[in-house]
Amino acid sequence: MSDLRDLYQEIILDHGKRPRNHRAIDGGARKAEGANPLCGDRVRVYVKLEGDVIADASFLGSGCAISTASASLMTDSLKGKTTDEAKKLLRAFVDLVKGLEISPRERDDLGKLASLSGVCAYPVRVKCATLAWHTLLAALEARPDPVTTE
Ligand code: ZN
Repeated sequence: MSDLRDLYQEIILDHGKRPRNHRAIDGGARKAEGANPLCGDRVRVYVKLEGDVIADASFLGSGCAISTASASLMTDSLKGKTTDEAKKLLRAFVDLVKGLEISPRERDDLGKLASLSGVCAYPVRVKCATLAWHTLLAALEARPDPVTTE
């Protein structure tokens, strides 16, 4: 178990320090803003849809290592998924970081995102881990108001 924890730690540190997809998407992308005032995390999530499929996803923002790693891993995992698949992934991820039971299938789907499972031991950090996801949902549903975790 501790090997797995070390691996998870490595993934979070790597994505926290060198976030993937940390850029804007110009032209035709949906976007939404989110903030977690408790920690000071801020994020803007971009999704570009082709029909119902997420062709590209990215984010900009600043925050703690957990929020950055979560946004980085999230945007990496979204490309090629349908919006329904993305919403399923969101539900599985939120359950995971809240420490709720998820199915082996859901765990498979989450892949590297499972590295954030340790967050469930730190309730304050759950908001850091889920911020990008709630913001993604707002972008997919084209909701105009900024997302806040408070
Ligand atoms: Zn945070």
